[in-house]
Amino acid sequence: MKVPLSSPDIIEKDIGAVVGVMKTRHLSIGPKVVEFEKRIGNYVETRYTIAVNSGTSALHLIIRGMGIGEGDVVITTPFSFIASSNCILFERGRPLFVDIEEETLNLDADKVEERLKNMSVEELAKVKALLVVDAFGQPADWDRFKEVAEKYNLKLIEDSAEALGSEYKGKRAGSLGEVGVFAFYPNKQISTGEGGVLVTDNEELDRLARSIRNQGRGESGEWLDHERLGYNFRMDELSAALGCSQMERIEEILDKRAKVAGMYGEKLAEVEEVQVPFIAPYVSRMSWFVYVIRLEKGIDRDRVIRFLREGGIECKPYFTPIHLQPFYRKMFGCKEGDFPITEDVTGRTIALPFFNNLKEEQIDYVVEKLKEGIGRISR
Ligand SMILES: *Cc1c(COP(=O)(O)O)cnc(C)c1O
Repeated sequence: MKVPLSSPDIIEKDIGAVVGVMKTRHLSIGPKVVEFEKRIGNYVETRYTIAVNSGTSALHLIIRGMGIGEGDVVITTPFSFIASSNCILFERGRPLFVDIEEETLNLDADKVEERLKNMSVEELAKVKALLVVDAFGQPADWDRFKEVAEKYNLKLIEDSAEALGSEYKGKRAGSLGEVGVFAFYPNKQISTGEGGVLVTDNEELDRLARSIRNQGRGESGEWLDHERLGYNFRMDELSAALGCSQMERIEEILDKRAKVAGMYGEKLAEVEEVQVPFIAPYVSRMSWFVYVIRLEKGIDRDRVIRFLREGGIECKPYFTPIHLQPFYRKMFGCKEGDFPITEDVTGRTIALPFFNNLKEEQIDYVVEKLKEGIGRISR
């Protein structure tokens, strides 16, 4: 049996929506992007939504739009997809990593506060923002981060790229900081092929982000008037049409994913060497992005992955810590031992196959193979 790691859920209606746009010959800067922005804004309950060509572009727009630049410091997590930190580098800012919580895998607010408390006045003056990631879809402890941000007068950015539909104490991910981000690469909860959005209630940030997305054009909309340095980060109409069509099914999609996660949880409960994801009590709804298990200390994770792959099961060691990526080591002198919890966890995690239409027999096969692999390797 072959089981892929992920697989986007595309139905005939999605295909029809994209074909429909092609028939209009109106492929960019049109009504579908506007509609997609409305749908996301209504869902997340934020005032402004700006659709762009990737989640990474959305993060970049935030950093630029907030005026974070040369020498400015942004506190963030080393346990994430690399874009959540690279966006700071794009504008010559400096990420300052702080370790994560062992259970939730999210940035540890206590450690962030401790780090800020021990800074000199000069160091503190450089820190401009907290960029907090909702890792694997699970919202971080946002009340705590709000407290810390207020106390130290920092901007609060939510990388909710993996968390569309998740809720923290009844409030949707994306609306938990001053600004949030979603991404629509094919392994995300919904996909537009490539694409992303920025969501915020901040009018000034909306105005700047719209301009920078569109070659720095001003509100007049004149094609050759450029008020500032901008990019082409626009989302096209085909992608937006796919996004609209997928958003119509968002509840069904999230339910399907929750069901798959639930089946894994039940079937893995008896496997002693495997720790399933921990969901914190403040998470009132979990939107599952991936299904990442942790092996007991001492089991050779990479050998287990190899064994699963030989059995046709695609799986990955999510994530490799950002601070240990070669260019981070070189630029910032990061090294092993800097963030012990992140490093311990990343040595033991495996992302198992996870997508909307994963069948129970496929899950059974994955669990069987996992047990078999662990049994052979730990013996
Ligand atoms: C997917 C993802 C992004 C980037 O999104 P792209 O659309 O691939 O550019 C950013 N941050 C996190 C945490 C992600 O998982």
